[in-house]
Amino acid sequence: MKILKFGGTSVGSAERMRAVAELIHDDQPKIVVLSAVSGTTNKLVALADSLLQGKREQATAQLGELEKEYRKFVDELLPSAFYQRRAEMVLSTIWDQIRSLTQKEFIPSYEKVILAQGELISTELFHLYLESQSVPSRLLPALDFMRTDEQGDPDLSYILEELEHLLSDRTGVPYFITQGYICRNCNGEIDNLQRGGSDYSATLIGAALEADEIQIWTDIDGIHNNDPRIVDKTFPLRKVSYREAAELAYFGAKILHPTCVIPAEQAQVPIRLKNTFAPEAPGTLISSEGSGRSITAIAAKDGVTAIKIRSGRMMNAYGFLRQVFSVFEQFQTPIDMITTSEVAVSLTIDNNTYLDAIIGALEPFGEVSYETEQTIICIVGDHLHRQTGFTRDIFDALEDIPLRMVSYGGSNNNLSILVASSYKKLALKSLNAQLFGQRLSVGEHV
Ligand code: ADP
Ligand code: ASP
Ligand code: MG
Repeated sequence: MKILKFGGTSVGSAERMRAVAELIHDDQPKIVVLSAVSGTTNKLVALADSLLQGKREQATAQLGELEKEYRKFVDELLPSAFYQRRAEMVLSTIWDQIRSLTQKEFIPSYEKVILAQGELISTELFHLYLESQSVPSRLLPALDFMRTDEQGDPDLSYILEELEHLLSDRTGVPYFITQGYICRNCNGEIDNLQRGGSDYSATLIGAALEADEIQIWTDIDGIHNNDPRIVDKTFPLRKVSYREAAELAYFGAKILHPTCVIPAEQAQVPIRLKNTFAPEAPGTLISSEGSGRSITAIAAKDGVTAIKIRSGRMMNAYGFLRQVFSVFEQFQTPIDMITTSEVAVSLTIDNNTYLDAIIGALEPFGEVSYETEQTIICIVGDHLHRQTGFTRDIFDALEDIPLRMVSYGGSNNNLSILVASSYKKLALKSLNAQLFGQRLSVGEHV
């Protein structure tokens, strides 16, 4: 069994959706995980935000726009009035549900219900299209098996149990279609796996079922050596290890959800990244085999805050860091990078929800300062700890940039550097030039 996930742009138009149907139709059993049509989740976020701000009329207008868009989508996708009517019926139930939420006093759980509709729509429409083409398939409702536990982590044993139950009768059905991104929380309420979470849905399903392979189909031919949205002339990597991919995903390579590699690594299921616009391109294989490159790729994670605690009490003391960490535990805020000196510790967080409270709780320990709008530049390699010389190239490339923190040795694959976000582009471009041999033309790195 293979798991194939198609992202928003891969199902972004009627034409793209038809191309996906072609791609999957080879009589091999598979579970197809779909994202929402590209742009839909952003529009649903905006709609929920209008409701949160009490702007009901605006939300109703936004809903009207979506209805119009999908009317066109359905006309273009489905071949006959019969299937178009069926699609309209499915969609009108969804629009009615959203509309009913716009009439009530808005509560936070409504947002999750609204955000879930994008994947529910794309899978319903895709399923109808397959039916119209006489391709046998069955919908596998993600809300019936994808669940998170009290800590908000995926509940893998529940997922497996429910999936096995739902898949127990597969007679005559080679293709199962399910929603990415959406799930239920431990209270049974509709929730999601965070933005970009369809990748995670696919790897969780693949890991639970110990699939032969998880394929993530997107709009680019695999993981590139640097962020192609920022740096020109990046190139695709043919193979990377789970560890390398996990570091790149966690530290900002948008092509993969930050934690989606973990379940696949645990279950040792390979992930293949493929391009729906060029299905013949080899893409990237993520497995236990490393890239074999000294430096594999560079990624950047924005929205980081650096916090520094300076304290004479830290010198030669034990228990100090435990006290500091307990503050982050209390406010359920994960720490990403950490560096220490004799009298100070600097660390980074990517969630400022409790920033003020965290700063307040740290103040008794010493002098506390923080800086927002920082970016972690993450340089990933295969067994960096066995290499020599690469640090000189990195620091040469960054010689004009103030470095706020440097972290190395935490893993064998990663060297992370914190810079002010205003230096991100320059850092990525200069590192690309230095580490991958692409010289910058004059003025390019500004
Ligand atoms: P999908 O909608 O299919 O999930 P995403 O937009 O989430 O697709 O991810 C694909 C995009 O990730 C690419 O179009 C590319 O711009 C961006 N990206 C960022 N960093 C990388 C990288 N290192 N390699 C490949 N793509 C990257
Ligand atoms: N539709 C969701 C998003 O836009 C999930 C995904 O595409 O992976 O974030
Ligand atoms: Mg994505």
